[in-house]
Amino acid sequence: MSKSPLAALPEPRREPSAAPLARLLLVDDIEDNRIVLRRRFQRRGYEVEEAESGARALEMIAQSTYDLVLLDVQMPGMNGIEALTRLRLTHSAELLPVIMCTANNASEDVVTALEAGANDYVSKPVDFAVALARVQAQIERKRNNVKLSDAYTALNEMNGDLERRVEERTRDLASTNEKLMLEVLRRQQADTRMQYLAYHDALTGLPNRVTFREACQEALVSAKATGTPAAVFFLDLDGFKAINDTLGHSVGDLLLKAVSARLRDRLPDSVLIARLGGDEFGVLLSVCPDVNKAMDVATDVIEALAEPFAVETHNLLIATSVGVALSSKAEDCVDDLLKSADLAMYRAKEDGRNGMGGGAYRLFDPSMDEAAQDALRLKMEMATALRNGEFRLQFQPIVSVKTGRIVTFEALIRWDHPTRGLLSPLLFIPLAESTRYIVQIGEWVIREACRVAATWPDDIKVAVNLSPVQFQRSDITPVVLSALANSGLAPHRLELEITESVLLDKNDKHVRTLEALREIGATISMDDFGTGFSSLSYLRTFPFDKIKIDQSFVQSLGEDKRSLDIITAIAGLGKSFGMKTVAEGVETLAQYAAIAEQGCTEVQGRFYSMPMNSEDVTKLLRNQPKMD
Ligand code: C2E
Ligand code: MG
Ligand code: MG
Repeated sequence: MSKSPLAALPEPRREPSAAPLARLLLVDDIEDNRIVLRRRFQRRGYEVEEAESGARALEMIAQSTYDLVLLDVQMPGMNGIEALTRLRLTHSAELLPVIMCTANNASEDVVTALEAGANDYVSKPVDFAVALARVQAQIERKRNNVKLSDAYTALNEMNGDLERRVEERTRDLASTNEKLMLEVLRRQQADTRMQYLAYHDALTGLPNRVTFREACQEALVSAKATGTPAAVFFLDLDGFKAINDTLGHSVGDLLLKAVSARLRDRLPDSVLIARLGGDEFGVLLSVCPDVNKAMDVATDVIEALAEPFAVETHNLLIATSVGVALSSKAEDCVDDLLKSADLAMYRAKEDGRNGMGGGAYRLFDPSMDEAAQDALRLKMEMATALRNGEFRLQFQPIVSVKTGRIVTFEALIRWDHPTRGLLSPLLFIPLAESTRYIVQIGEWVIREACRVAATWPDDIKVAVNLSPVQFQRSDITPVVLSALANSGLAPHRLELEITESVLLDKNDKHVRTLEALREIGATISMDDFGTGFSSLSYLRTFPFDKIKIDQSFVQSLGEDKRSLDIITAIAGLGKSFGMKTVAEGVETLAQYAAIAEQGCTEVQGRFYSMPMNSEDVTKLLRNQPKMD
């Protein structure tokens, strides 16, 4: 309990709702001093608590928070300086300001107090105005200090946050960087692949045409420098298209791979092997001292590819046509060299086709180039020929073995060329087939053949050859209909001859065209039977009315026993399927006799008559005895 009479005075008035300006702790051993100061500060809006000793003050500060301590120096027991020294162990001058109350003129006390960590002092007896000013100043400073310290804390936090963000960002960047590196790598790989594909064939992995051409170019340069020629070989696989069309592209692909593997195995590493496209391959011998060496390589290639290829369940046989061109000193153009090899390859193919197959090679010689030029000229002249009506038809009789009477004439086209005389279809039909003229020429043949045949007796038919290209490029049915209508020829008197290549395209469209033609009333014959890839299988695709056995079998009758067997087999086949069988190219009595004996129903050939013009046909027919 307080003993001071001052304590009995009423407590100063303060706005109850106003928040105190600050919380002060007054430390003084003299109660009156405390009461006076407390009241005056309270009046000014401060919250004030009192402590009667240094020890008590330290206790209170440990338990509560004050904004400022007014600490008397002179106290019994723990004096103000000691209390201050202890206080400063836990509370800094910035956060808990202490103002010492010193006896007047005790300047030593002031110095000691300031050294011990006092923020300021007031002399006793306390001049309240001074004390208030100093308290306010200290509190203001403390608040600033607190703000500063808060700002530091916030700054530190922000720093920490910033560091964290920088770390995160660095991590993000690292991962983005990693992704970027992966993308770069992926693109590099794609680039490498594109680069590879630009110079290699995707199927076989061999260098492609671009690489081959570049290598030929280099070889030409060094051939010119050293004087030793380079040799270029063009390879074409005969019968590949047929395999591809009949057995499917996957078998075709496997075959091409097997061919390239075999070429790699067989030819020395110094030789460049390339796939030029489709079934065409190129071989480059950069140094080829003489023609014999080139011929050896060509023979090697043909032999290597002549062995059967086991592809899936099939045992495939192909023949290879090889064209060879050697560089000459004068020649310095890679395109010429490649063109020469190409021409030689075509010649090899033609020659191989005329022989019994098995593959062939040809060395380029300049006359081949002339032949190519010649072909080009003929192609250009074809349009004029059509306009000027330079095409003619000849007719070759086809005779019934049973009655010996002419039953049909085959219409065979000729070109009555203004400067070169009568040209064989073998010369110009293949050229026409490589242009659009075959459609126009073919149409002219159908119309002309019907027109002429309409003048013959009713029991004589006319046979017209149709090119496979006509099937691909045009619709033949309306042309046949209109030719029949215009000429008045009865449809059953028209025979249409096709070769099996019409059916090579695995396309039903051509079969449907044949059915439509049959519907009209025309008959369909298969020409040149036995020369193709799998003639027999086509007999199942379409029910032909007639099979024409290719003349090569008839002509090799005496020499090759197999020819007779084949003719026998085809004649037998015809009989059992109800198809007529015609032997083409019968030239001798012996051939005629053999054929008649095998049961062929009709013959065609020199033995009876070669093709003749329509006037001669009319005469011949006039002399043919009437049927009883
Ligand atoms: P092809 O349809 O097989 O015609 C038979 C060919 O054999 C004809 O040759 C004919 O003159 C010839 N020939 C007939 N008997 C004998 C013989 O006893 N000995 C020899 N060595 N040959 C004989 P041509 O007229 O030169 O016709 C050749 C091929 O040209 C024809 O073969 C046919 O595929 C084609 N052709 C002819 N005319 C036309 C046509 O108008 N259109 C089309 N697309 N092709 C035609
Ligand atoms: Mg024919
Ligand atoms: Mg024929």
